[in-house]
Amino acid sequence: MLDDAGLQALREAARLSPDNLPLRRHLAGLLLEKGYLAEAETEYRAALMLAPRDVDVTAGLAEAFVRQNAHGSALAALEPFLASPGYPPRLGVIAARALLGEGDMGGAAYRYHEAVSRDPSVGDPDLAARLVVPPLQAPAAPSHGVSAPAASPYGTPAPHSGAPGGGPDGGAVERSGVTFADVAGMEAVKEALRVKLLLPLQQPELFAAFGKRAGGGVLLYGPPGTGKTHLARAAAGELGASFVNVGLADILDMYVGSSERNLRATFELARRSRPCVLFFDEVDALAARRSDMRQAHNRQLVNQFLAELDGVDQSANEGVLVLAATNVPWYIDVAFRRPGRLDQPVFVPPPDAAARAAILRILCRDKPLAEMDFDAVARITEHFVGADLKGVVDRAVEAKLHQSISAGRPIPLTTADLVAAARSTKPTAVREWMSTARNYVMHANESGAWDELMPWIKGNKW
Ligand code: ADP
Repeated sequence: MLDDAGLQALREAARLSPDNLPLRRHLAGLLLEKGYLAEAETEYRAALMLAPRDVDVTAGLAEAFVRQNAHGSALAALEPFLASPGYPPRLGVIAARALLGEGDMGGAAYRYHEAVSRDPSVGDPDLAARLVVPPLQAPAAPSHGVSAPAASPYGTPAPHSGAPGGGPDGGAVERSGVTFADVAGMEAVKEALRVKLLLPLQQPELFAAFGKRAGGGVLLYGPPGTGKTHLARAAAGELGASFVNVGLADILDMYVGSSERNLRATFELARRSRPCVLFFDEVDALAARRSDMRQAHNRQLVNQFLAELDGVDQSANEGVLVLAATNVPWYIDVAFRRPGRLDQPVFVPPPDAAARAAILRILCRDKPLAEMDFDAVARITEHFVGADLKGVVDRAVEAKLHQSISAGRPIPLTTADLVAAARSTKPTAVREWMSTARNYVMHANESGAWDELMPWIKGNKW
């Protein structure tokens, strides 16, 4: 690190060229590193004047504030970024630290979890260990802006096909190329979806005889990366239904009233495309508890969502199956659990060893392979979820590709390649998710909504 004389020289250089942004940013970073917090703050403020939307400068300034216990100032500095979905995850971790400093444990846990779910590399185990959420504390996330990302970091983003009816007004219609055969493990989850969604569509007369209609919704919940999006797409493929994948960016709009309009357009698109699986990712941002919301227009959006789920008349949503996914089910307004809405929460668990081997087999099936021992890779990837395993395979394939290019011939993937890639991969923070879930759910399961999750959080496996 630079000694004090070097630092002095940099200070002098910055004084002589006050408009040199890289220089000021560098100086501010060194000051922060050396613990000259007030001076770092001054430098970052000056740099922010030169570049008001600079992520590094904002992160540095917020960090300087947090380390001086000026948590409110840190949040104010971060606010312009945090208000938009898809903001840089590392800013979310700093915000979590500031929220924790303000005593807002729920908000901090939410923010941290959300940021790390999008970029596990920004995780901070020390901070995570301090984020043990007291039971039934109201989260503060909505007060600091919408906090979910625009798209899953892991999933293949929905190829917005540009099909008729698609576009900015709420998603696009896809034909899903995957079925349940492409989803490894999760037998119980698939069975629940079959009964709830597929059978009514496949055998409408039988269901009609019992006064039941095809349609309705399921809330898929679980740690990030466990395959919720993949499963929803597979459900559409299994049914031969069209698939509309709705990301937050398709709905949320800064102008009052526009988000409601987008939501309505999305439902209309699904109704025109029936039979259709309408999938809402990160639904917590659209369906958060109204009691937690300070902004009336956010409550308006939740009300609109409920109204769309109910449909204007009995048959409005016939043949439209709503699947919604969330990593934070405890933030969803209970009104969504009423019959005919997202009335069935289904837990999508992290995979066990057999499921991990099966996922790896599926992920590798179209690659040139040597003899593979997927069980061996499964054994060393405890706590990895599907998305992590996809990362492992992608990484191994990339390395192999480089070797093949140098060798001038395709070299098949081996077990050792996967093992090496797994060893250098940090898995998603499932353990932290389980501990957050434990804090929320253990004390709030009167309705039995979280029964499926109970064995997972009660056992000491996690
Ligand atoms: P989530 O929506 O829960 O965050 P995703 O559905 O985006 O997770 O999962 C990421 C990727 O991991 C998928 O695109 C898929 O390739 C892979 N994956 C996850 N779970 C499974 C599974 N059970 N079987 C096969 N692939 C899976």
